[in-house]
Amino acid sequence: MTEDVLKIKHLSVDFRTMEGNVHAIRDVTLKLHPGEVLALVGESGSGKSVTTKTIMQLLPNNAEVVSGTVEYKGRNLLDLPEKKLQQLRGNELAEIFQDPMTALDPTVRVGKQIMEPLLNHKQMSKGEAKKQALAIMNKVGIVNAKERFNNFPYQFSGGMRQRIVIAMALICHPQILIADEPTTALDVTIQSQILRLIKQLKDELGTAVIFITHDLGVVAGIADRVAVMYAGRILEFGTVEDIFYHPQHPYTVGLLKSTPTMDMSEGELESIPGNPPNLINPPVGDPFASRNEYALAIDYQKLPPFFKISDTHYAATWLLDKFAPKLDLTKKLEKRRVHYANLVKEDNSDD
Ligand code: ADP
Ligand code: MG
Repeated sequence: MTEDVLKIKHLSVDFRTMEGNVHAIRDVTLKLHPGEVLALVGESGSGKSVTTKTIMQLLPNNAEVVSGTVEYKGRNLLDLPEKKLQQLRGNELAEIFQDPMTALDPTVRVGKQIMEPLLNHKQMSKGEAKKQALAIMNKVGIVNAKERFNNFPYQFSGGMRQRIVIAMALICHPQILIADEPTTALDVTIQSQILRLIKQLKDELGTAVIFITHDLGVVAGIADRVAVMYAGRILEFGTVEDIFYHPQHPYTVGLLKSTPTMDMSEGELESIPGNPPNLINPPVGDPFASRNEYALAIDYQKLPPFFKISDTHYAATWLLDKFAPKLDLTKKLEKRRVHYANLVKEDNSDD
């Protein structure tokens, strides 16, 4: 197998606040394989954005990396000087966010903004950069690219603005694209168009993608692998099939049960009761224990290790210990399985 493009090892990040230290990321280990889409899922506040801000070295001033490394091409990004990081950002490492307006300058014509990364990072004439900008505008589905080149961001719809941001992010053919809830602000139809676009472009360019979402519903159509995050920790990771068909951690099961499918009535949805723990004094043991109806005594006392389910699938729950009671957590998930199977089929049928 070819080398991983990114290796996050034992990463812990704190925030200093008036109330105390917020332990936002706790011992996160993650690998990104070449050309894959790795989805990072979990409720709001679980540490998804902080993880990717650490990769990009764009953490706010009150953040401190307490431990860990982020390896990219044999170097630890956490040790690189700012100048080197600037050479990587927008070039080899690109990102898109939920709100395209944060990435776009409202006072600059979009064509110029799309060209910018090329002029910053590649030795290229303006004429050549413009040619490539027009080509990628076409590719991301902006019709009349030549005329639209001179428009300002406000002259585009939300979906079109996100396409412009994607064009900007991909114009230098990055090794890694970080997409942090890129479709959350868009309506459902536009959402799926943007997901398809990201998938199509990453296949074409061979870019590896870290796709962040709180919505497991969008994961089936786009991800190859999924890592489930909770209270700053990864609780389970596996292929998209592992996670949707054989979820092992009660939190993953809870997330699946609370994700709506098209053919489901409101009453069938079960939200996870309770709230995530306070990260100033996070609990010892399994952080999900207090919300887990199947919690064992040991869940409150000792952090579960990752148990191996298969070569691709690992979960940190004491329920996988050989002495734990055997439970079937996945009752009532059948309907969802059919739904996800259809999504994946739909998705592959028009490739
Ligand atoms: P999400 O999974 O929703 O992207 P984040 O990664 O943004 O979550 O946040 C993880 C945790 O870090 C949350 O508990 C959040 O409140 C905390 N956090 C994020 N930014 C700061 C900050 N600048 N100061 C203090 N705490 C922060
Ligand atoms: Mg976030």
